[in-house]
Amino acid sequence: MPLFEYECRICRKNVDDSLTSIANKVNKKTVSELVKKYDNINHIVVYDTEKEAILGEHGKRDKDAVDLDFYLNEGTTLVFFNLGKNYRFSELIYEEKDENKVKCPFCDTKNVEKVVSSFAFTSDLSTNMPKPDLSNLPPSVRNKTKLGEYIEEKDRPKKNK
Ligand SMILES: [Zn+2]
Repeated sequence: MPLFEYECRICRKNVDDSLTSIANKVNKKTVSELVKKYDNINHIVVYDTEKEAILGEHGKRDKDAVDLDFYLNEGTTLVFFNLGKNYRFSELIYEEKDENKVKCPFCDTKNVEKVVSSFAFTSDLSTNMPKPDLSNLPPSVRNKTKLGEYIEEKDRPKKNK
């Protein structure tokens, strides 16, 4: 029985748009407006990893809900979302027509899109360096995120002296 992954376009866009506005400008007001504006977002914390300070926080975190975190601005900004339900979810599909019934578990919309499972492509770890999984990032952020080829000193192959 095939298990497919889907993303709710509406719930995802709420997170995506929030990240875009946080990336542009962040203060207490912008963060609280985002939490109020989007139903599926319970709580947002924006953290400056260089200053080690919280730039904005709003809402109430539900421990039973879903936590997602995203890095922005080259890793200097870390954003935590607490979502009522993840915009990404899995469904068992037995027959093709079952797909028409797939609904977002949070907002009940059928405006969902099938996504390629992050488990579908497993690179050969013996020859390829593992790379961070970007599949949880919203598309707008994913497209701006480039994986560098830089290898840290400690991870470089040892040279014989
Ligand atoms: Zn939804």
